[in-house]
Amino acid sequence: KICRADFMHAFENDIKPAFGVSKDEFDSYIANGIIIWGSPVTEVLDEGNLRISQTIKSEMTPLVSILIEGPPNSGKTALAAHIALLSKFPYLKFCTAQTMLGYTEMSKCQQLKKIFEDAHKSTLSCVVVDELESFLEYAPVGPRYSNTVLQTLKLLFKRSPPKGRKLLIIATSAYRDILEQLGLAQSFSKIIHISNISTGEHVLHVLSEIEHSFSVEEMKHLKKSLANKQVWIGIKTLLDLIEVARQADDKYRVARFLASLEEVGGTV
Ligand code: ATP
Ligand code: MG
Repeated sequence: KICRADFMHAFENDIKPAFGVSKDEFDSYIANGIIIWGSPVTEVLDEGNLRISQTIKSEMTPLVSILIEGPPNSGKTALAAHIALLSKFPYLKFCTAQTMLGYTEMSKCQQLKKIFEDAHKSTLSCVVVDELESFLEYAPVGPRYSNTVLQTLKLLFKRSPPKGRKLLIIATSAYRDILEQLGLAQSFSKIIHISNISTGEHVLHVLSEIEHSFSVEEMKHLKKSLANKQVWIGIKTLLDLIEVARQADDKYRVARFLASLEEVGGTV
């Protein structure tokens, strides 16, 4: 016999909304979770939470937009997806240029327009636009970019939702200066900078959060080598290095890990 519980189970587990929230998709951008490796992460999350409440509560600003910018591999995409999920808004949408590969400028603009129109239909919406520069087809040689997409994004980022509706826009980019030159950075209510990991303590913190990375003995050695050291590495790159070290099972893996940390991040 089919009863209410079965329907509820299906709603929770099997039925994916045709538009709006697809939590699995968001989760896929946070494949390795969010490790709070230091105060820079807490600051970004605090700012995110602040902007979420501003979207919900403020009568004066039905449209709140934030730009998360930082170096390549610093965790921009994951943090944007994480903040969107934190909002728990009924309409969540993740836009990436990857799903628009091969689209003409026109169809890209139409797709973006559709996403924002759908967002305007829900009382509370959050739209993530990942890697702004890739929508613009920006190329440093030339330099060239799509002016059509640029103008469309500018308008969409400015358009307030209809009365009674709220919209939070979270965009990411590794090219803040270019967005500034194109006049797009100015569209945002707040620009949040994401930093690379810069101290040995931060690295040790990440290591301590990852199960079975190094043995107790190896960690002792790492603590000694990394204390008071300066590094410069994005969380994504660091997680890669840890994964490589984890695969290797020999006595040189600590030395190799430290060497590769130095190679990418210039440990001093
Ligand atoms: P790219 O420059 O290629 O766009 P990115 O800056 O967008 O890279 P992500 O793709 O977000 O980087 O990769 C970050 C990875 O690190 C994700 O797998 C995420 O789960 C993991 N991660 C762990 N802790 C954090 C954190 N504090 N902030 C961001 N990402 C984190
Ligand atoms: Mg990214």
